[in-house]
Amino acid sequence: MSDDCLFCKILKGEIPSTKVYEDEKVYAFKDINPLAKEHYLFIHRSHTANVNEMSDESPEQIAEVYSGISKFTKENGLVDSGYRVVTNIGKHGCQTVFHTHFHVLGGEQLKGFGS
Ligand code: 5GP
Ligand code: ZN
Repeated sequence: MSDDCLFCKILKGEIPSTKVYEDEKVYAFKDINPLAKEHYLFIHRSHTANVNEMSDESPEQIAEVYSGISKFTKENGLVDSGYRVVTNIGKHGCQTVFHTHFHVLGGEQLKGFGS
């Protein structure tokens, strides 16, 4: 946990969020500014700043987050229609919250990278 981290505050319940999934290791909630009909943020309960740090320090956490994404998207039909997972890193990636998070976007046809 990091005291001045927004998503750690969400994990502690100090800032409200709309939960969509949780297990022992992972928490997921609706993005406050959705960029698709369905837009969720999946985070690990342990604080790291970005996915590179997570990979270097605790690579098992990547699998734990993805396991949550897999269960959630199967249970909610997203996997049938398809969806996108995005994790932004640093300035050029437009990362604004420095607690590793994976955007899950779907619920409608998304634009392809070439269109
Ligand atoms: P990033 O830009 O770092 O990849 O993504 C951060 C995401 O967190 C953004 O999509 C933004 O809308 C979302 N966000 C920022 N503050 C809050 C908040 O207080 N609650 C929720 N649910 N989402 C937030
Ligand atoms: Zn944090």
